[in-house]
Formats: sequence, structure tokens, C-alpha cells
Amino acid sequence: MQANQTHICIVGGGFGGLYSALRLSRLPWLSQALPKITLIDQNDHFLFSPLLYEYITGELESWEIAPSFTELLSQTNVQFIQAQVRGFDLATKQVNLCNEKPLDYDFLILSTGGRTPISSLPGVSEYALPFRTLSNAQRLQARLKDLLSSNLDKIRVAVIGGGYSGVELACKVADRLGERGRIRIIERSDTILGSSAQFNRQAAERALTKKSIYVDTSTSIESLTSNTITLINRDQRDVLPVELVLWTVGTDVGEMISSLDLSKTEQGLLKVNEFLQVEQEKTIFALGDIASFRENLPKTAQVAIQQADFCAWNIWATINNKPLLPFRYMALGEMLSLGEDEATISGLGINLEGTLGYLIRRLVYLYRLPTLKHQMSVALHQLTRPLLP
Ligand SMILES: Cc1cc2nc3c(=O)[nH]c(=O)nc-3n(C[C@H](O)[C@H](O)[C@H](O)COP(=O)(O)OP(=O)(O)OC[C@H]3O[C@@H](n4cnc5c(N)ncnc54)[C@H](O)[C@@H]3O)c2cc1C
Repeated sequence: MQANQTHICIVGGGFGGLYSALRLSRLPWLSQALPKITLIDQNDHFLFSPLLYEYITGELESWEIAPSFTELLSQTNVQFIQAQVRGFDLATKQVNLCNEKPLDYDFLILSTGGRTPISSLPGVSEYALPFRTLSNAQRLQARLKDLLSSNLDKIRVAVIGGGYSGVELACKVADRLGERGRIRIIERSDTILGSSAQFNRQAAERALTKKSIYVDTSTSIESLTSNTITLINRDQRDVLPVELVLWTVGTDVGEMISSLDLSKTEQGLLKVNEFLQVEQEKTIFALGDIASFRENLPKTAQVAIQQADFCAWNIWATINNKPLLPFRYMALGEMLSLGEDEATISGLGINLEGTLGYLIRRLVYLYRLPTLKHQMSVALHQLTRPLLP
């Protein structure tokens, strides 16, 4: 690094962080203003989480949904460091890493995403499987394999949470288990997919009925053991046998963000201004699931990707003394997978379901994969797959 080269440090290589890094590397830098860009993530791979369900059914392989950062950044000037960030020294502008020397920065992008907090209810941390990371999905995949090779007649699965994740996961697990699966969604409120578009909710309800997935609304979980789940519905307590419990509810920002001395909302999200800068410090940008913009935006990849564009541009503009652009979110709609060959889409005035919905969803996500090279590799693999033994 040259003596006075600007250093942009990006913490978290998800939709916010990785897409900011890629965008920054493609902006038209003058050679004398070319910054050093460093992306830090605790994992060696990015995760395209909307396609994590497809890994469970074997429709997509791990390299397709979780390509390595080294591969994705190979044709850019972005340096990747695999390390866990343990904190920041905002006064001296340093990022503190576990087992590595601290890094100095001029601009910091924070995009460490959400975590699934596992409830403290009895048995949950021991027996329920969360579904957020590639290793969560690999663990679930292995468990399903074991259950399928057992001599159990019925395989009973409880999915906790009737939001997007719970419904999509329940449909894929039902397809994976086939006739032997007995899937039940447990939802505390009186409806599943409470924040979803009506068209998608109705399509999901039809898919759940078709797959004989049972939905318990207004029901909460009291405790788990290795083979039972205790549910409370109004004043009634039911103890049901279960082979597998999947936990899809809740999200928090984790200790590192909570302990930062920056303005936060009541939910612990970092408050950002219209340019995505944190309130007290114009050289720190926050985006994705950890950031709170004026409007209460959903915690989605769609928001994080759009913010990444503005964040990269605003850092470029600051360095080049150009006006910054206020972030404007454009809601493009929502898509849900509802099994191996079914999905539902609602947005931009279009409603689609069934196989056509499935194909369009896969094409949109193919286009959204982080680099053209990776898009091409996945497209080629998907096209040639049926021909391979
Ligand atoms: C199963 C699932 C399905 C989803 N489906 C959809 C969907 O269909 N459509 C949609 O729009 N959204 C979907 N989402 C939500 C979407 O994935 C998130 O909103 C999005 O990933 C947020 O982007 P982000 O950059 O804030 O965080 P993330 O993409 O989660 O990235 C955070 C990154 O930070 C890294 N990190 C965290 N802490 C540290 C640390 N201390 N040190 C170093 N690295 C760290 C993590 O390893 C990770 O790579 C889904 C989420 C899940 C879990």
C-alpha cells in the first residue's frame, strides 16, 4: 500500500459487504486516487441465503450457493482476509481481528448481518437446529439422510416459525422426505406469512395443503426433549413425538455490533442517515440487516444489495469530492420457493406461481449471483446437469 493510499475496510462479506466491494472495485477511479479495498469475513465463502433451501433438496450444490471469496474476488483489486472481527477502535480508526494484527482504515463499511438467537426455553439449544448458515444446512442435510436411512415409518418434523423461512424450509423438507414426512409448522401469531403479499400467502397455503404440512397457529413452544416437543395452544398443553425440530425465528445483530459506541435503535440496529453513514461518524457506513434507515425496511438481500450500490458510490464520491446520493429503496416484490418445482412471485404488478414461478425465481437469482463468472458456471452446471450421470 502506498503511503497515503486511502484504505476502505469492509467488515462482513454478505450481500451488503461483498456487493459493496465488487461495486467499489468497478467504479472509475483515477490512478492517483485508487484506494486499497479490504474485505474481511469469518468464513472463506459468501452465502447466497435465498437459495439455501435448494441445497437441502440437492437442487444446488454448495459451491453454487456458497462460492469462495478468493474465487469471487480473483479479477478485482479487493484483498480478502479470512478472520473474525472482534471489535473496533473508533478513535484510532482500527479494526481488531482475532489472531491477526489490527487494521487501520480511512473508511469502514459495516455489514455483519443478523444471527438467529436460539431461545433459552428448555431443550431448544440442545435439540433444535437453526437454519441460517451453510454449516446449519449441512447439518440438516446429514440429519435428513440419517432419518431417511433409518427404519422409521414416519419422520416427524416441527418447523418453528411460520414466516418466509419456516414456510420455504417446510416445503423443501416435505419434498425431501416424501411419503414418510410428517411436517408441522408452529406459529405463535394467528397467521403464517404475516408480512407477505396476499397472492404469495394464498399460494403458500395451497402448497402446504397439497404437501399435507400441518400448520399450528396461535401456538407457542414450551420445551423440547430429544424426541418430544411441548406446545401451548391457548390453555391447552400438548406433548408430541418428534424426530427433528428446525428453528427459524428471530434475528439479532450479535455482540460486536451491540457493544459499538454508536447510535442505535431500540432493536439494537445502527442508525444511519440518508447516505448510509452512521450518525456520529461520516467515514463509517452501515448496511444490510444491522442498519436502520429512516423507513423501517425489511431485512432482505434485496435491501442490502441496493444499499451496497449507494454505499460504494458515496465512498467514491467522498474521495472524489462529488455530491453524495441519498439512498432510495425500490421494492421489487418478493419470491418464495414452495418445494422442488414450485415457487410464488409477487411484485411490480406481476403475480406468478407454480412451475413458471419456480423458473423465473431461479433465473432472477442466477442474475443476482455476485459475479458474471460465477453466474456462467452455475448456469452451465444447471443446464448440463440432467445430461450427467
Ligand atoms: C435461510 C434464509 C433465506 C433468506 N431468503 C431471502 C430471500 O429469499 N430474499 C431476500 O431478499 N432475503 C432473504 N434472506 C435475508 C437475507 O439473506 C439477508 O437480509 C441478507 O443476507 C442481509 O445481508 P447482510 O450483508 O446484512 O448480511 P449477511 O448476508 O448475513 O452477511 C454478513 C456477513 O458478515 C460475516 N460476519 C458476521 N460477523 C462477523 C465477524 N465478527 N467477523 C467477520 N465476519 C463476520 C458473516 O460471515 C457473513 O458473511 C434470507 C435469509 C436466510 C437466513
